[in-house]
Amino acid sequence: MYDVIIIGGGIVGCALARELSRYDLRLALIEKEVEVGFGTSKTNSGIIHAGHHASPDTLKGKFEWTGNQMWDDLARDLKFGFNRIGELLLAQKSEDLQYLEKLKKQGEGRGVPGLEIWPPKRIQKEEPNLSHTILQALHAPTAAVVNPYEACFGLIECAQQNGAELFCGYPVLSICRNDDGFSIQTPQQKFHCRIILNAAGVFADRVAAMVGADDFEIFTRKGEEYMLDRRLQGIVTRLIFPTPTATSKGVLIIPTVDGPIMVGPTAEDVDNREDLSTSFAGASKIFETVRQYCPAISERDTITEFAGLRAVADSNDFVIGPSPVKGFFNVAGIQSPGLTAAPAIAVYVTEMLRSEGLKLAEKSAWKADIDGPPHFARMTKQERKAAILKDPAYGHLVCRCESVTEAEVLYAIRHGARTLDGVKFRVRAGMGRCQGGFCTTRVMDLLSHTLGMPLTEITKRGHGSEICTPRQDKLSVGDGV
Ligand SMILES: Cc1cc2nc3c(=O)[nH]c(=O)nc-3n(C[C@H](O)[C@H](O)[C@H](O)COP(=O)(O)OP(=O)(O)OC[C@H]3O[C@@H](n4cnc5c(N)ncnc54)[C@H](O)[C@@H]3O)c2cc1C
Repeated sequence: MYDVIIIGGGIVGCALARELSRYDLRLALIEKEVEVGFGTSKTNSGIIHAGHHASPDTLKGKFEWTGNQMWDDLARDLKFGFNRIGELLLAQKSEDLQYLEKLKKQGEGRGVPGLEIWPPKRIQKEEPNLSHTILQALHAPTAAVVNPYEACFGLIECAQQNGAELFCGYPVLSICRNDDGFSIQTPQQKFHCRIILNAAGVFADRVAAMVGADDFEIFTRKGEEYMLDRRLQGIVTRLIFPTPTATSKGVLIIPTVDGPIMVGPTAEDVDNREDLSTSFAGASKIFETVRQYCPAISERDTITEFAGLRAVADSNDFVIGPSPVKGFFNVAGIQSPGLTAAPAIAVYVTEMLRSEGLKLAEKSAWKADIDGPPHFARMTKQERKAAILKDPAYGHLVCRCESVTEAEVLYAIRHGARTLDGVKFRVRAGMGRCQGGFCTTRVMDLLSHTLGMPLTEITKRGHGSEICTPRQDKLSVGDGV
């Protein structure tokens, strides 16, 4: 019997797991995908919003600024990529000027520091590659970028280190309410618990419906994102936002933590909750829009693209709190700024559980930090030599674009990577210009040998994304990586 089971291992579920792991509870997280973070949490813009965007009368507004302030400590403790680069929100038409003033006031009312409206001269000095037709821009130094998947991995690793149990590849099929709590059916086993936290992202209403706690509905809004060649690195140094539309924050220019520029996302309502396709129309829209404020950006520089699905609740706000079914809590409808807000949501939900009667006794030996993956590419010459002497696997380069060694790939696998994406998102093998052209077979080989899985079962991101068909089973891929 678990005290608490979290359904869904996105950024919200993982943040909840780490927060609750501070207390003496029997705690588990159940995730349907093969690894955590493989839902919306790995397919977003990776922005920790500055704190002034969301309206104060919404839960989004309540948690945006509180969440923002928690990321420095999290990044330090969990060793993930994070950089406070600031943002500029552009006024391109005279009607936009009022919006800048409104947003500045909104932020100041909430205590967001450093908000300034810049005139064209300052914009050109600070970001010379932006269009010279921009009228004004609101500068917010508190905006940051993060590697969201690394944050998920760090949060769950910390939770596990503090006693939480993780079950990946366990889709929840049904839930029954019984006298002392719930039983949760997955294909592999039945789980029993007193409290359920439903953090199932775009499927949260369906999970809630399993127990009759679906007093909300989720709609999906797709966003396509395009990653550009390193050639354009530095073209802007801050996040660039246009004034927002009714349904999204508009098409952004995002200097990612690792350097490359990303542009996106689109905002398109879709019915299919698994539709992660990108499109010619989406790309055209993004590049046409973005060229209005940064003319040198071209679609020809795209090295990869992806899409993510926003979980939009019918209230258009987060759905957080007790449901009509006692013991079943929804943490749902977590659309943007959900990544930013996740750590604050986790603290809020924990306090809510306390006020609902859950006994929360702090563990004396809770450990806030983890070691984090090694990064050969960031080591000095001396550090590299020492690493190779200690472990010769540092002397075997697996990914040439990003200088990732066999030792790092093996570290990723020891820390939960089960797929090519799991390795890529932990240690960057396959993230460079050739997008895995060189290292895919080498990483597959290491996954296969270390996990004792045939090559035909190695996937990019879980079932359905296998790389080899059984006919190729007898081929040996790269002997001696
Ligand atoms: C294109 C795009 C850009 C965005 N940019 C930003 C940004 O820059 N900054 C920001 O703050 N926010 C951003 N967001 C929003 C942010 O990504 C989300 O708010 C956040 O990732 C939601 O996290 P989550 O944990 O609720 O959902 P998810 O990450 O989707 O996690 C839910 C998990 O539940 C699992 N699950 C579902 N059903 C079941 C089941 N039956 N059994 C077991 N597990 C189940 C899923 O597999 C999934 O892993 C963006 C969103 C999109 C789509």
